[in-house]
Amino acid sequence: CGIIGILGLTPVAPLLVDALKRLEYRGYDSAGIATLERGSLERLRAEGKLRNLEAKLAAAPRLGISGIGHTRWATHGAPSERNAHPHATERLAVVHNGIIENFRELRTELEAAGRRFSSDTDTEVVAHLVTVLMEAGATPHEAVAATLPRLTGAFALAFLFEGEDDLIIGARRGSPLAVGYGAGEMFLGSDAIALGPFTDEIAYLDDGDHVVLTRSGAQVFDEAGKAVERTVTRSQGTT
Ligand code: GLU
Repeated sequence: CGIIGILGLTPVAPLLVDALKRLEYRGYDSAGIATLERGSLERLRAEGKLRNLEAKLAAAPRLGISGIGHTRWATHGAPSERNAHPHATERLAVVHNGIIENFRELRTELEAAGRRFSSDTDTEVVAHLVTVLMEAGATPHEAVAATLPRLTGAFALAFLFEGEDDLIIGARRGSPLAVGYGAGEMFLGSDAIALGPFTDEIAYLDDGDHVVLTRSGAQVFDEAGKAVERTVTRSQGTT
């Protein structure tokens, strides 16, 4: 129900959790983060309140400076750790707000092709679709761009990739997603409130957009895959 992504300069786990707290008002039943630890994706997920995730983090601190986080309001699959986001493959981790309406057909197709699922969510098909394309040689951006047209329903998505410490890809259709601009840092979030502590320079993505974030900036593409500019506004401080 809330999304955050950070390409930072310091360990991002505590920042991800802070941002998720600011999204608590939307409601949630579980929460999780994925960070890159020396290039390797590591996830930490917990059912229930954010304090459960914080307790796990205290027991197993994360030092990665790139990460994504999520608070989940379950629509498909029980509220459990197994179904908490991020969902992951050997190539990537993804967080999702909304509903992938055609997930059953996609899951059947992916399972027939030998993909193994580890959750009951609609979201996990997205992780596998992108992974299959990357295994066939696509770059992360090519794989995400080719996957989006296959999805029906409403979504905001954020992806973090194994071995890619300077890359987060976001996409939205129906659900909101905003890009936050920092000095040598970049942010992605469900709304300006989530990004409030980090930056007041924000661009909202248009419906159908996807965005490639690196620490040096954001490249936005529209639904047709054409590079576009979206207005950057200065929000009033929301801290
Ligand atoms: N449909 C997804 C799930 O049930 C995402 C729910 C959300 O927006 O938090 O896992």
